[in-house]
Amino acid sequence: MIWNPNKECMSRDEMHSLQSKRLNKLVTYVYHNVPFYRNKMQEMDITPEDIQSIDDIVKLPFTTKQDLRDNYPYGLQAAPPSEIVRVHASSGTTGNPTIVGYTRKDLAVWSEVMARALTAYGITRDDTFSVSYGYGLFTGGLGAHYGVENLGATVIPTSTGNTEKHIRLIRDLKITGIACTPSYALYLAETLEKMGLSKNDISLKVGAFGAEPWTESMRKEIEDRLGLKGFNLYGLSEIMGPGVSYECSEQNGSHICEDHFYPEIINPETLEQLPVGEHGELVFTTLTKEGMPLLRYRTKDLCSLIPGTCACGRTAIRMGRIVGRSDDMLIIRGINVFPSQVESVILEMPEFEPQYMLIVDRINNLDTLQVQVEVRKDFFSDDIGRMLALKKRLSDKLKSVLSISAEVKLMEPNSIERSQGKSKHVIDKRIL
Ligand code: ADP
Ligand code: ZN
Repeated sequence: MIWNPNKECMSRDEMHSLQSKRLNKLVTYVYHNVPFYRNKMQEMDITPEDIQSIDDIVKLPFTTKQDLRDNYPYGLQAAPPSEIVRVHASSGTTGNPTIVGYTRKDLAVWSEVMARALTAYGITRDDTFSVSYGYGLFTGGLGAHYGVENLGATVIPTSTGNTEKHIRLIRDLKITGIACTPSYALYLAETLEKMGLSKNDISLKVGAFGAEPWTESMRKEIEDRLGLKGFNLYGLSEIMGPGVSYECSEQNGSHICEDHFYPEIINPETLEQLPVGEHGELVFTTLTKEGMPLLRYRTKDLCSLIPGTCACGRTAIRMGRIVGRSDDMLIIRGINVFPSQVESVILEMPEFEPQYMLIVDRINNLDTLQVQVEVRKDFFSDDIGRMLALKKRLSDKLKSVLSISAEVKLMEPNSIERSQGKSKHVIDKRIL
């Protein structure tokens, strides 16, 4: 089944002209409503008239997360405040979070693209679907929720937490579909088994997994233990939220809703657009967004685009799996963590050398973060009470900055290996 064949199966020529028309309209809109973009375009000596075709997109400026932070909170918003009906924020990294305002039309587009995704996974009005992404400022919960409602299936807004109760609901309400992070799916499987139940006691058939990178081997394990078929769901709050792209039954890349989100792959060093098929950084332009439209937003996600009509019948271009990031962002228990955040906390405390290492692992299907940091000679002592107090102070600070807890390991002076070249601050032991 295809939710919107008119858009998902458009001929490439039709798509090209729709994207061209929408890009021209978008550029005119931001030129007149967002001083940030007008100034950038004036500096580059371009006007909306210069952008007639989607191929002219290479003339336009890029947008970065830093630009969003610098213009916090509403600097890049194009619609007047009275048109904004909802606001989400992406999980806090250093400094300001990213604030995204949506108009009523933006929300309609969002639930449309989510309905496309759910239909591609095989969900219909007859299904009962549990949304187990976090509800709140994070886009996962509400984004998926309104997609399920739009489709007409029954939505169970379980959100995260209280896993045993969740499993009882999955069993008793005969829930057939679930959206959550792949690591939460593994945790669900484990809890199910701990409760003395198995996949034969539940009737899940579809899992929509995303918000963090995952692998084929995770897919296989989740599928085996929960007895469902797992599909990829990709998105990011700056562009919309979940639903930017989704896997179909062929599971050979995720179809991008490119009538709304125009993808490019660039070389993150030279910023040049790369030919379709090459690996690089994924960039999106929001062709139809009203609240906070973005030109050429650099996602920092590394992947490639897959052209050609898919055996499922969709013509929309696909993106391959995310194979890494062009920055050093880690996703730990669904929260974005930058090593620089840890560094800034450590630098603020005179007790520590600027020598640290983040050890990320996955134990019992839950991500763990250990921060090893060297104590300065003058502060290092055999007094255990003093050392424990120092450790607690650091872990409290880290918790408030990162929004997740980290295990702190105090290290003796000079014990962390110094690197010759680019210093390495992260060991990620999760097999991704
Ligand atoms: P947050 O509120 O945590 O900032 P975002 O929506 O901004 O949430 O997170 C988006 C990022 O999450 C993406 O840029 C990507 O790195 C990661 N992500 C989301 N979905 C997937 C997926 N299906 N596979 C891999 N990574 C994903
Ligand atoms: Zn397909």
